[in-house]
Amino acid sequence: MALTVFTKAQCPYCGHENLIMVTEDDARRPTIILCDNERGPGCDRYFVAIIKIVATATGHAIADE
Ligand SMILES: [Zn+2]
Repeated sequence: MALTVFTKAQCPYCGHENLIMVTEDDARRPTIILCDNERGPGCDRYFVAIIKIVATATGHAIADE
């Protein structure tokens, strides 16, 4: 199952932060985003988003039985 996350991409034209849903596939190549002027104050222009998915991990002890 592909990893899907929500992130924000700032429009280079108007500065609006667009909430976008990205998958692992989107991180393999630049993705075209439409700056959202329906749900947000965007400018309705297309821009390119370079998507990087970062994973973090924390270590935890396994409980003794
Ligand atoms: Zn914009």
